[in-house]
Parts: sequence; structure tokens; C-alpha cells
Amino acid sequence: MNVFDAMKDGGFDSVMYKYDKSTGLKMIIALHDLTLGSALGGIRFYPYESWEAALIDAMRLARGMTYKNAIIHRLSRGVLSHGGGKAVIWGNPKTDKTSELLRAAAETINLLNGKYIGGEDMNMTVKDVEIMYEKTRYVTGLQETHYRGGRIGSGDPSPVTALGVFEGIRSSLKFVFGTDWMANRKFAIQGIGSVGMALLEYLAVRSDPSRIIISDNDESKISRATLKYPGIQFLDPKNSDEIYDQKCDVFVPCAMGGVINDGTIERLATAGVKIVAGCANNQLLQPQHGEELKNRGILYAPDYVINAGGAINVATELKQLGYNHDEAVGMTRQIGPLLDRIFLDAAQKNVPPGRIADEIAERELADARQWNDSDIY
Ligand code: NAD
Repeated sequence: MNVFDAMKDGGFDSVMYKYDKSTGLKMIIALHDLTLGSALGGIRFYPYESWEAALIDAMRLARGMTYKNAIIHRLSRGVLSHGGGKAVIWGNPKTDKTSELLRAAAETINLLNGKYIGGEDMNMTVKDVEIMYEKTRYVTGLQETHYRGGRIGSGDPSPVTALGVFEGIRSSLKFVFGTDWMANRKFAIQGIGSVGMALLEYLAVRSDPSRIIISDNDESKISRATLKYPGIQFLDPKNSDEIYDQKCDVFVPCAMGGVINDGTIERLATAGVKIVAGCANNQLLQPQHGEELKNRGILYAPDYVINAGGAINVATELKQLGYNHDEAVGMTRQIGPLLDRIFLDAAQKNVPPGRIADEIAERELADARQWNDSDIY
């Protein structure tokens, strides 16, 4: 299938490419479904291998945001109402990310007149978003001390994402083991970046650090975690791929997408993993891998449900009355009860939990479409 057919068949609203000669910016903004409002989704800065890889990632992530924002619409009873979109910047964040380039990215977002609102994603920090805010109002996730033009910053979304993932892990443990008691459970965390580290703080106090094993490609992230939690187990960054073979109850993907695939499911099952629950976006390489996990007796917490806390946090910043941390946290805590219901429903219908989550999101969108089409007003 060619890429334009994929956009048409995938129900995309529009996809925009931007190249800027003076800064070297190479950016793609994919807008998926705008039924619930302007698209909200982070900006990923990544050294993709090719523009095709960047485009595919932008499209997959934008579609995921449609589903995540539909779930948030439901959790917030329609208060937080956004469509799905995502931006990617193709480049090396260590060498290519200049203030000029970030401002050019902001001006690119302005071309969409508010149809897309960006924020932090991989390799994009609160500081970067602040620089972009010099040129566009259409970013969120400003720093907490920010109060300008009626906007109160919500700060780094990662801690709230981690809280949602923690609630999701509790829900998964209850479903599989009948209790969310963590002291005798073993966890394998892949990626100890912004969310992984914040999540580690929750898990380390409830479980014994020696029952947690972490992996990261970046040596400095491992050092930071081991310094804070002596006794924690870790893999040498050269062998970070061995994380799939660690005997544990819960595999916690907090790095890249596509990590649940034909090769890794077998390894996770052999290692005795019972639950996959983490923050990474697009964890399943293909939808059938959700079915495969179920067939192997591994419970999967659908990614866009369990990791919705960060999007809840940044969406709350955009509300007319401004950011309220307690409100964002309260909504994020509802991820646990929602997952309880998804797991139960999936078990009763003998389908993977992802199927139930998709149905909930699609119902939310269908209801909104019907409402939008009605002539009540
Ligand atoms: P991050 O860049 O801060 O952390 C990712 C970490 O993973 C880095 O430390 C990196 O070195 C490591 N890593 C990369 N490849 C790896 C590999 N193969 N094995 C082990 N470690 C590897 O990113 P983050 O903000 O913590 O986000 C992590 C994931 O969660 C991403 O998929 C992101 O899209 C998703 N997510 C993040 C948020 C948020 O609030 N930050 C919200 C929802 C979803």
C-alpha cells in the first residue's frame, strides 16, 4: 500500500511536511481524527533512519493519540476534548536541537491555525516547549512557574504519566494475582528516562529494589537509578536487549514502541512474565500481537489507556480556568478503575483487553460524531 492510500484508508485528516532552509528543520505533523476537537499530541525529536520511518512513526503516534484522547474524553466526561495528532522532528536531538530550529517548528505549528497543539515527547523538554511558546500559543506543557497570557504551566507531564502507569500496574496485579500487594512481585523496567525513573520511585517503595531490574541504552540513566536505589538490579547497556529474558511478573516497557512482537513475546513467556504494563506508546508492533499475548496467558494493559496521565496533565493546562494539579491527578487515578473494567470485560468476552479499549474509544468518537451532526443548535 502506498503512503497516500495509508493516509486515506487510515482516516487521516491531513499530514504536513515542513523543511526550513535556514535552520535545517525537517518536521512532519500528522493530524488523524479531529472529531473531538483540535489535535493534541507531543512533538518527538528523533534521529530516524529515513523520512519514511519518520512519517510512519508520526502517523502511528497520531492515530494512537486519537484513541488516547477519546479515552480521556470519557474519563473527564467531555471536559477534556481533543482529537489525535503528533509531530516529529527528524534530527539528532544532541546536535541539531537549536533555539532557532525550535522557533521554526513553532512557526510551522502556527500554519495549522490551532488545528494541532504540541507538547513534550521523546527528547523534547519543558525548556524546549518554553522556547517554542515565544512563537506559538499552540503548545502545552509549559513550566510550572510559568504564568503569562492567562496560562499556568503544568510542567513536565512525566510524573503524572508515571502515576497513571502505577495505577495501571496495580489494576493489572489485582486482576492476575487477586491483590495489588507488590512486595513479593518482580518487575523488569525497560527504559529509565523521564517516566521510567518517576515510576521506579513508586515501585521501589512498595517492592524491594532488589526485585526490580532495569535496562537502558544510556549508561548515565543506569548510574542515576542505581545511585538512588542501591541494590536494584540492572543490565549492562550493551546487553539491554536481555530485558525480555528476565524472570519477573511484570514487564514494564518505558522506552520505544513496537517492542511487543513475534520475537519478544516468546521470550517474555519463557521468562514467566504475566503482565505487560508500561508507558511506551505503540507497544504492540501489530494489532495481532495483543491476541498473541492473550494466547500466551500474558495480560496486556493497553498503552494508550495506561499512559494517558501525561496527556490528561497537558490537556488540563489548556482548560479555560487554567491548570489545576489536583484535578489532573484525580482524573489520572481513574485509569486504574477503567482498566479494572476493561480487563473484566475482555475476560468475559474472551478477547484481548486492547479490543475492549478500542471499542470504548470508538464508541466515544461515534457518539461525538452523532452529536456534531445533530442540528440541535
Ligand atoms: P525518555 O526519552 O525520557 O526515556 C526513554 C529512555 O529509554 C531513555 O533513557 C533511553 O535511553 C531509553 N531507551 C531507548 N531505547 C532503549 C532500549 N532499546 N532499551 C532500553 N532503554 C532504551 O522518554 P519518556 O518521556 O520517559 O517516554 C518513554 C516512552 O513513554 C516513550 O515511548 C513515550 O512516547 C512514552 N510516553 C511518555 C509520556 C511522558 O509523559 N513523557 C507520556 C505518554 C507516553
